[in-house]
Order: sequence, then C-alpha cells, then structure tokens
Amino acid sequence: MPLVKTEAIVLAARPLGDTSKIVVLLTPRRGVVRAVAKGARRPKGRLTGGSVPLRRIEALLYVREGRELAVLSEAQVVWAPRELGSDWRRYLSAGRLLETALAVSAEGDNPAADYHLLLDALRLLEGGLDAGLVRLFYLRQLLANHGLWPELGRCAVCGGTVEGAVDIDIAAGAAYHPEHAPDAVRSLGAGSVRLLAGLHRPAVLRARQSREVVEGALDLVERLAAYHFDLRNRSAGLDARAQALLDRPEDESPL
Ligand SMILES: [Zn+2]
Repeated sequence: MPLVKTEAIVLAARPLGDTSKIVVLLTPRRGVVRAVAKGARRPKGRLTGGSVPLRRIEALLYVREGRELAVLSEAQVVWAPRELGSDWRRYLSAGRLLETALAVSAEGDNPAADYHLLLDALRLLEGGLDAGLVRLFYLRQLLANHGLWPELGRCAVCGGTVEGAVDIDIAAGAAYHPEHAPDAVRSLGAGSVRLLAGLHRPAVLRARQSREVVEGALDLVERLAAYHFDLRNRSAGLDARAQALLDRPEDESPL
C-alpha cells in the first residue's frame, strides 16, 4: 500500500462506529480523498484534532489503489480557523465553501488550483472579510479555474468592446451590449462588472462596496456556478433557520 504524505483541508467528517470517523479531505494533488480515521472520535485520539472540518492538516495516508477509502495514519493540524468557530454567519459561509469544493472537485483536472483557492477563501473569511464578498471571490475564481468564466468585455453579436453594464446569457456564456442582447438574459450593472474584474486585487476586496453591487455580482456567479456544477445547496435551509434565530429579539433568543 503506497504511503502518501500530503497537506489537506478537512471538508467533512462523519462517525464510523463508536470511536472512528470517515473524513473527506481535499488535497492539492489527488483532489478529494476519503479516508478512515481510526479512533478519531476518542477525546485524546491521535487523529482527533486533525479530523475536524475546516482544519488544514499534514496527512499521512495509506492509499489503496482501486479502493474508495484510504486510511488516515497521521494528521497534524497546521491551521485551524479560530475566528470562524466563534461567528455563526461566517461559520455557515465556510461550510458552504466546503460543500461547493466537494461538489466541484470531482470535475477538476487541476486540483492544486482549487485547493489553494479554497485555502485563500477560508483565510479571507477568517480575516473578517464580508461573507458575500468571499463567496463572490471564491466562485468567480472557481469558474475561471474550470475554464467556465465568460468574457464580459466582448459583445457576442457585434464583437465590439463592452464597457459598463453588460447583458449575459448564462447557458451560452456570452456577453452582449444591452442594445444587442437577445431576450431572457441577465443584466449586470457597471459597478458589479468592475467589482468582478477586480476581485483578484486585495485593494478591491477591502474597498467598501455597495450592497447592490455585491448582490448583483453574486447573483451572476451563483447562477453560473449552479448551471455548470452540480451544486445542490444542502445547507440553504440551515442558513435560513440560523438566520431566523439570529434575527430574533434578545429576550426570545434560545442561544
Ligand atoms: Zn454589441
């Protein structure tokens, strides 16, 4: 059985028997790896700390070719996002990033790019950046990593440069001057176009953005991602329920 040493982000973990877990890891070279973590549910187990979702670990894996499950032999925690654990909204946002990474990774032929993108997004979230902007940053780059980001600056009808507002056909991945657009396309405002073009620049991410601009851009990337990837948002209901709890007046709070 080949022994593989790799860094990894723990995407998910579920109980296996009384004392163990099955962990789902995202790795830079092998993409998603599922592994048995024996004893990881014991309070002082050797693998306990390293089999918690959101943590980045140095893993030693026995990978059995042709078998679905590897065996996690060592898991040293390299990074654990402490801030995320103390903030409901950011914690849920981080969970959605992990779900998306898991859903998309099976389709990727460049797992290293997706791995480092997820790590960047989690760091931005941990650093306190607005969760909507982090999601925007993540999905925009994920689509680009997979060759699915449309060219927004070129009109598919006349071939001319599009500046400012643009109309977009999600399925065709095409952009249009608003006056040349066919029916039933999405319109994107000039502010959202500028934001999407500058998301890779830290200054743009840190700049104050209007809610309308962020939501317009987020709507587009979510639609593109939902069209291209199999993203059933399993935690959408949970998001809504958690939000309802957070929005209650203090005296009704069950927390
Ligand atoms: Zn045109």
